[in-house]
Amino acid sequence: MDEPMIHRRSLLKAAAAAATTGLAACMPHARDGSAMDTNDGARLPTRGEYLIRGATILSMDAAVGDYERGDVHVRNGSIVSVGTVPSAATANATAIDATGMICMPGFIDTHWHLWTSITRPIIRIDDPKRGYFPVTSFLGRFYTPEDSYRSVRLGLSEAITAGATTVHNWAHNIVTPEHADAELRAMRDTGLRGRFSYGPAQGMPDDKPMDLAGLARTQKAWMPNDGLLTLGINSRNVGTDPNPLRGNIPLEIVRADWGGARALKLPITLHTSGPSPITFLEQNGLLGPDVQLVHPLLTTAAERKILRERGVSYSISPLGESRRPSSAGVIQLGELLEAGVKTSLSIDHTGTYSVDYFNCMRLLYNLHQHRIGPKFPLTARRLVQLATLDGAIDLGIADRTGSLTPGKRADLILVRTRDVNIAPSGDPYEALVSFAQPRNIDTVIADGRVLWRGGRFTALDHGRVLEEAEQASAAVRARAKWG
Ligand SMILES: [Zn+2]
Repeated sequence: MDEPMIHRRSLLKAAAAAATTGLAACMPHARDGSAMDTNDGARLPTRGEYLIRGATILSMDAAVGDYERGDVHVRNGSIVSVGTVPSAATANATAIDATGMICMPGFIDTHWHLWTSITRPIIRIDDPKRGYFPVTSFLGRFYTPEDSYRSVRLGLSEAITAGATTVHNWAHNIVTPEHADAELRAMRDTGLRGRFSYGPAQGMPDDKPMDLAGLARTQKAWMPNDGLLTLGINSRNVGTDPNPLRGNIPLEIVRADWGGARALKLPITLHTSGPSPITFLEQNGLLGPDVQLVHPLLTTAAERKILRERGVSYSISPLGESRRPSSAGVIQLGELLEAGVKTSLSIDHTGTYSVDYFNCMRLLYNLHQHRIGPKFPLTARRLVQLATLDGAIDLGIADRTGSLTPGKRADLILVRTRDVNIAPSGDPYEALVSFAQPRNIDTVIADGRVLWRGGRFTALDHGRVLEEAEQASAAVRARAKWG
């Protein structure tokens, strides 16, 4: 909970130099065809060398600290140095003037059903028959691999605009192995870091194990790659709920699916909506540091102790969780942090939610104050950590992302603090949690690639992404004969 000290540093020289340096001319761009990587057909900006100058730096690394004004040097996808960067070391770098901006790690989303992004025109929040669960459960079986590709690409495009640099794709509609390939291609083509959690198809019988042969083939075909993508599985629901929303798999299927994943050294993720399955899982020896749970609403103190001891993590999706009836429980952020359970942040899906991590932090703060308040103080910095470094810890990738640490990969964003909704800006954490919005995100760099700059995609064809998503949405709807 410690607040790192803000180091004051005069950067008059750097600011003067930055004022005369324009970035736009140096930026890679798809339309001229130059300075682009072709990644098995995808076109992404090259990993260049950049000097981000004059930013307020929130490193989320206690050893690095924060800077009221400082620089970040990025080369070949890596963070070279943070804070005071000797100009002699950056002679070849392209300067990015970050005056009036916060430089921080990109957001890390630890649970997102990207395949449902194209269901937006169909789902209604005020009509139970057209709610997220009935619509996606029904439509899932009508997806072609191309529909999955377009939906995942749409979701990840929005992720870029919202400042996410890592997304855990919770893919619970793998109708065929080709659907897995399509979703992974979309992840690769958008250039973000992510975990792909291979799952069943919607409507798959609870007494049938998941497609472990398909999982093994996917692992062989896609892993390892250039380090951006990792693999896991998502489990169907487990537990004792007599009326589960999406069914429950019996213990022998849990053992088959989870055991199959563990034989391939792959992590597991599981929703815990409804009665908590934690005691059941613990009694059967199934919990470990390779397990991520989602939706912490009904855990007991004894269960949280188990989670901490087993190294299990919990992803919170505040938009969806706060929309549930009170009987479904409350968002237990304070309880999890107090118990020392690894905790992270997620959007869940965009069938009915918009991607705004600032708003998620704000909502979590409000709910925490509403329920718990000063009994367990929650700071703005702690929430920013939840949305960044804690996500990397949850996904087991904190060795390469989640903080601005020399040697880690360059996954970072610039947030403007001189826009009308945020200026005049004081404490940067306060600015992020109380005021910031996605429209303040100026630049998104993932693995050293500038994917978003000055409010525009650098490489992604925005019009094509939208058009093809709209076509896929209409096609799925027509195939399913959905009204
Ligand atoms: Zn979910």
